[in-house]
Amino acid sequence: MALANAARSNSAQMFGHPRGLTYLFTTEMWERFAYYGMRAILILYLVNFLLLHPVAESVIGLAATKHLFEYLTGPLNTQQFSSMIYGTYTAFVYLTPFFGGMIADNWVGQRYSVIIGGLLMAIAEFVLMVPSLFVVGLLLLILGNGFFKPNISTQVGNLYREGDSRIDRAYSIFYVGINVGAFLSPIICGSLLGEPYGYHWGFCAAGIGMILGLVIYVNALRTLPPDRIARLRSKTDEKRPLTGEDWKAVFALVLLCIPVTFFWATYEQQGNTMNLWAQSFTDRRLIPGLLDWEIPVTLFQAFNPAMIVLFTPLVVWFWGRQAKKNTEPTTVTKMALGLFMLAVSYAIMALAAYITPAGHTTSWLWLFAFYAVITMGELYLSPIGLALVARVAPAQILSAMMGLWFITSFTGNLLQGYIGTYFTTLDKPHFFLLCTVLGAGAGVVTWIFNFPLKPILEKRGPTAQPELAEPQADPHMEPRPAG
Ligand code: GLN
Repeated sequence: MALANAARSNSAQMFGHPRGLTYLFTTEMWERFAYYGMRAILILYLVNFLLLHPVAESVIGLAATKHLFEYLTGPLNTQQFSSMIYGTYTAFVYLTPFFGGMIADNWVGQRYSVIIGGLLMAIAEFVLMVPSLFVVGLLLLILGNGFFKPNISTQVGNLYREGDSRIDRAYSIFYVGINVGAFLSPIICGSLLGEPYGYHWGFCAAGIGMILGLVIYVNALRTLPPDRIARLRSKTDEKRPLTGEDWKAVFALVLLCIPVTFFWATYEQQGNTMNLWAQSFTDRRLIPGLLDWEIPVTLFQAFNPAMIVLFTPLVVWFWGRQAKKNTEPTTVTKMALGLFMLAVSYAIMALAAYITPAGHTTSWLWLFAFYAVITMGELYLSPIGLALVARVAPAQILSAMMGLWFITSFTGNLLQGYIGTYFTTLDKPHFFLLCTVLGAGAGVVTWIFNFPLKPILEKRGPTAQPELAEPQADPHMEPRPAG
């Protein structure tokens, strides 16, 4: 009965998509507002406040964390220690989604998981307002994101029937939601609150954002799909075992995780070393000599999400045009292209660093160009990666597979923190060239992977379907076949 009700209310459409998509969009927008608001000020909070004497001595667990890192890497100065904290936090935040996905698939379901995760993350942001509880706050965020992120992401795909051509578009729209939140938060949590009034107000605003997201989600539950676990059990008593085809799809996704790791390892420098580049090596005057207003450091964190929002319609339109001519690349080829674009973005930075004499700053327009190119690369890799998982992962382990996709951000961010320590040991052109080479190498590997993976992935559903399908009368009456 509950399933039928959910299905009926979900049949309402908005702009050709189920109404639930709007609510998932808004919920994720606020959750990402919280995540990126906190992330925008994290590295600055560390180097400008928390790691300085005497505050550092009062932070519970900080000395032990430093010992652990130094055991692994050798002595660390403040910038290097902050890079390791930033990298480790942003890594573990993406490890837990794998377990959060498994827990949802097997026991809790997606809906409760999202609520538990949202609550934990809201509490965490308020805990972060107390400097001595910094490590506790980070741990709560890591736990909360594990419950939240994979499960809200699978719910997007669950709004549609298997093979529905709107799934790719749904994820692109969802990704815009992510980035509206990511765009607003550095401005509100960083430039308007954190930088002028104290970082703790930035954390506070992030917590309020997460609460707003939760309230929207809970109110929208009736428009959301029944949990996949419930949908499977409504038709069968037991979960069906994975077939040979399922295992091949799992293998293909696991293989893709390797190069995608290198995307995140370099891409995620944005919040770390690129933030420091904006702070210390960039001439941030808007129009030097004419309009000397300085762009706040944290505002650069808003460039990428703003560009995602602006570029998404263009990219989706472009793919649609390619599809009509039958020239749209496969998902895996798009990912390779995304990696090549990322390599180009760091080549731009290498050039900027190369032509800037030591001790000088360089125009912020270099950063602008960097963000434009890396953002195009992201659109060619990240939202379509989510859609790929939603389309090809076996239903029984869907959330866990979504979690696996996020594990690329775990491994990527671990590497990112480590790569970030070279920001002080290498000269800047070589640092950026290192990122260029890593991105380009991973691009070549992904491009090669396309040949064996194409037949496996395409069997599981078309990879390119630009046209909107007719709205389904009732997307949930048919459960997605498990095998
Ligand atoms: N920017 C996207 C998000 O926040 C992707 C992040 C990631 O997977 N590393 O959801």
